[in-house]
Amino acid sequence: MANPRLELPVLQNWSCHNCGGCCRQHLIEITEAERQRIIDQKWTAADGVRLPVIEWHAGPPWNKRYRLAHQADGGCVFLDDRGLCRIHAKFGEAAKPLACRVYPYAFHPAGKTFAVSLRYSCPSVVANRGTPVIKQAGELRRLGELVIPPGAEKTPPPTLNGRDRVDWPDFLAFCEGLDHTLADPTSPIAVRIGRAVTWTTLMGQSAFETLRGTQIRELIVLLMEAARIDLPAFPENLDEPTALGQLYFRTLVAQYARKDTVADLSAGWMGRWRLFLAIMAFTRGQGEIPPLQSAFKPVPFAALKQTFGPLDPASDEILTRYFRVKIQGLHFCGPAYYDVPFVEGFHSLALMLPVTLWLARWLAAGAGRERLTVEDISTALTIADHHHGYSPALGQLASRRRVRSLAETGDLGRLCLWYAH
Ligand code: SF4
Repeated sequence: MANPRLELPVLQNWSCHNCGGCCRQHLIEITEAERQRIIDQKWTAADGVRLPVIEWHAGPPWNKRYRLAHQADGGCVFLDDRGLCRIHAKFGEAAKPLACRVYPYAFHPAGKTFAVSLRYSCPSVVANRGTPVIKQAGELRRLGELVIPPGAEKTPPPTLNGRDRVDWPDFLAFCEGLDHTLADPTSPIAVRIGRAVTWTTLMGQSAFETLRGTQIRELIVLLMEAARIDLPAFPENLDEPTALGQLYFRTLVAQYARKDTVADLSAGWMGRWRLFLAIMAFTRGQGEIPPLQSAFKPVPFAALKQTFGPLDPASDEILTRYFRVKIQGLHFCGPAYYDVPFVEGFHSLALMLPVTLWLARWLAAGAGRERLTVEDISTALTIADHHHGYSPALGQLASRRRVRSLAETGDLGRLCLWYAH
């Protein structure tokens, strides 16, 4: 799309620090034009790459889909020993597949503009390292021209609650309400997320078909105020999530704890059997947690239920920035998140708080600690956000029903507070 208008996140810095992490984690599917371009680059074993550099990975023989081949450890075939891209080094940045050039950015329709978000699976995004994103407007517009399809500006807003749809300005007013709730500097992140869960749950029970403009904005203020009264501060006595809520939570958290590099996906029946056994262990929630990737050590499920203390300010900042960037970038509903409505999408995003804290506890407990560090939070967030909106399992009806149930029963709010103390 020519010259797209972009809304950029003001809180976020990012530059690539060549860690090579994205090139080890992602499966890069390529278009026919990209396949031809890479063939024309004439890679040979003398370049240090494993041949062939392209694989047929899906589709019938008459409609093949191709991806970049991978090394034995799951890293891209073009990744060198220093963590650098051989295509980039030999032919320049523009010669790489578009998916590689765009990561970690994501562009989402927002009426007359496009909202830009970032994936927190990148450690530099989590650490806020690099150039302010708002200073990269020119480069992002050039990328936007390549990735935003023609006509995307006509995309309607997602429904609010699965029934009612308002126009873009009113839809964006709800997003601004969420951002406002999360920007409050006087409360910890778990309280702010808890309030946002409360007022969006009320939204899910409301009808909006006759409300527009000022009425919608007045309603949002009322909902936000009701949520603040309901949860004025971090409670002294916490309600434990219900047994069913904990069961649903564990089955969801297992999806976020997975590692799915090409090496993992190629592990065949043995790999799938191991994953099945791990999911069963998560369902029971007793004994040792099966380590779904090497970052995690086997520790008892019970070890993660004890208190790990309140979050420190640096961890609170990372999580606040994460949620605000995802909300400002519309990276939680509609085309950015399995085409789900606003309320359901926000509840899935809110679940990222207890998921990240649970994974951070797992990392801390595995290292013999009873308090979380910023590194635990950062690593847990890179692991969890890799899947959020991208793992097919999370978009399946069973996962979506569990998230809806957690919100309807109040367990979602309880989980947010429980794992933040
Ligand atoms: S082509 Fe280059 S940038 Fe893309 S995944 Fe491979 S090594 Fe990374």
